Amino acid sequence: MGLEEEFESGLYDGPPAKDLLVRLLKARRIRPTEQRVALARLVFSRRWHFAAEDLGELAKGSGFAVSMPTVYSTLNLFVRKGLLKELVVDPRRTLYDSNIQEHCHIWDARTGSIVDVDMGAVTVRDAGKWGLEGVETCDVLVRIRRSS
Ligand SMILES: [Zn+2]
Repeated sequence: MGLEEEFESGLYDGPPAKDLLVRLLKARRIRPTEQRVALARLVFSRRWHFAAEDLGELAKGSGFAVSMPTVYSTLNLFVRKGLLKELVVDPRRTLYDSNIQEHCHIWDARTGSIVDVDMGAVTVRDAGKWGLEGVETCDVLVRIRRSS
C-alpha cells in the first residue's frame, strides 16, 4: 500500500488527526515538530491549491503564530520530501497542492481557478515516438481560455 492510499482516508475532510499527521510526516522522514504538524493540519484539511501567503493567513486566522520564513521553509521541506506538489502556473507566484495523489490540472486563465483531473483523463500516447522512454508519470497543466 502506498503512502497515498494509507493516509488518504484521514485527510481532506476537515483538520486531520494529529497522530495521523505525525505518522504521515515520519513516513516521509520529516521530524514531526509541533509547528510542522500544525501547518500540516491546515494544509491537509482539504484538497486545495494555495500560495505560501494563503497558508500564513490561515495560520494567523486560526490563532497559530508562525513566521512567513517558517511557512516557506516548511513548504519547501514538504515538497522536497514528496508530501506536497509545487505548481508552476504563474511564474510570479508558486502554488502548492495538498492533493498527494497523482493527478493533472486544468487552469482557467480567466478566473485563475485550478481544477484537479484524474490521471487517467490525460494520457501521454506513444511517448516512445518522441524518444521519451519509460514515462511513469507526467505533470500536465492544461491552460484553457474561455470566451466571455
Ligand atoms: Zn491539484
